[in-house]
Amino acid sequence: MTHWKNLLARSITTPEQLGRHFDFDVSALNPVYKQFPMRINPYYLGLIKTPGDPLWRQAVPDPQELDDDICLVDPLDEENRSPVENLVHTYPDRVLFLVSSQCAMYCRFCTRKRKVGTSRMLVTRETMREAFSYLRKNKEIRDVLISGGDPLLLSDETLVWLLDNLRAIPSIQIIRIGSRVPCTLPMRITTRLAGILKRYHPLYINTHFNHPDEITPEAAKACARLAGAGIPLGNQTVLLKGVNDNAATITKLMHGLLMIRVKPYYLFQADMTRGTNHFRTKVETGLEIMQAMIGYTSGMAVPTFALDAPGGGGKIPLSPNYLISLGKSVTLTNYLGAPCSYHNDLE
Ligand SMILES: *Cc1c(COP(=O)(O)O)cnc(C)c1O
Ligand code: SF4
Repeated sequence: MTHWKNLLARSITTPEQLGRHFDFDVSALNPVYKQFPMRINPYYLGLIKTPGDPLWRQAVPDPQELDDDICLVDPLDEENRSPVENLVHTYPDRVLFLVSSQCAMYCRFCTRKRKVGTSRMLVTRETMREAFSYLRKNKEIRDVLISGGDPLLLSDETLVWLLDNLRAIPSIQIIRIGSRVPCTLPMRITTRLAGILKRYHPLYINTHFNHPDEITPEAAKACARLAGAGIPLGNQTVLLKGVNDNAATITKLMHGLLMIRVKPYYLFQADMTRGTNHFRTKVETGLEIMQAMIGYTSGMAVPTFALDAPGGGGKIPLSPNYLISLGKSVTLTNYLGAPCSYHNDLE
């Protein structure tokens, strides 16, 4: 068995196993993991320092998950926006294609926790073939975002089959892979995998780091391998209460990402997903974090803060306001709060 498969097989999947690693009463977690699966592989487990720390909160079931009657089971209305199983077509020119139900770690805040890691999510070669045929017919789709679950938990052979099939469709210009593996199981990024992926350019990877403690030498090595294969790397972070909901943590994370050649892409307001209400922050928190970054640090480090509208309205960018008035003269404020004006009196 390859190293990463062996690590994955040694994941802990029950609170009782967790209790053997930490001095923590896990009895209250039993009803939770039966509803929403738990999987913490030995690599990520090793990064958790103490119960309740930011990595623990992302990985360990919490009784609050079962105490949420505010949020929605399918907040982005993905099921209704899927013309074929596992293919979400919300925007005109691009789709989200779910190709795996498995992840290297089950994040407690997952938007798809209704189905990821459970028998409620079924991905087979047959469901994938139906997606290929939809993509062949709908030539306006030029960008396919492969996600899941985690696409990089597929075997090398299945990935080759999938990518060969996508590249055989002429209307598809770019392929994007969304994967948390560089963060949660970086050993999956083998030289063999990087060698496979580079055959399908233009191919982009967006990964998902939420906390500076996740940026380790192993994660750096995985990202160096992907970047070395010519794959531009982006990152999506979810703003999470008790994990990263302050400017110092987010700024440190974004600086750390640039150091491992990953360009911050999105900072997401947490979705209104059933079982994740305890992670949500106020929108003001995200705007304050953005204001603390813009101008004060490299523009390269600043992601787009976005809220994915409940009901499937799509991603809406949110920004602190620097525009005071718009007319023949525009008045603005800079990041320090100093007033500025610009002559806008043009035909
Ligand atoms: C996020 C998402 C995309 C990609 O959005 P970008 O803003 O282009 O990164 C596409 N389809 C769906 C359904 C999505 O949720
Ligand atoms: S890696 Fe992504 S899909 Fe998997 S559990 Fe985490 S957030 Fe959900």
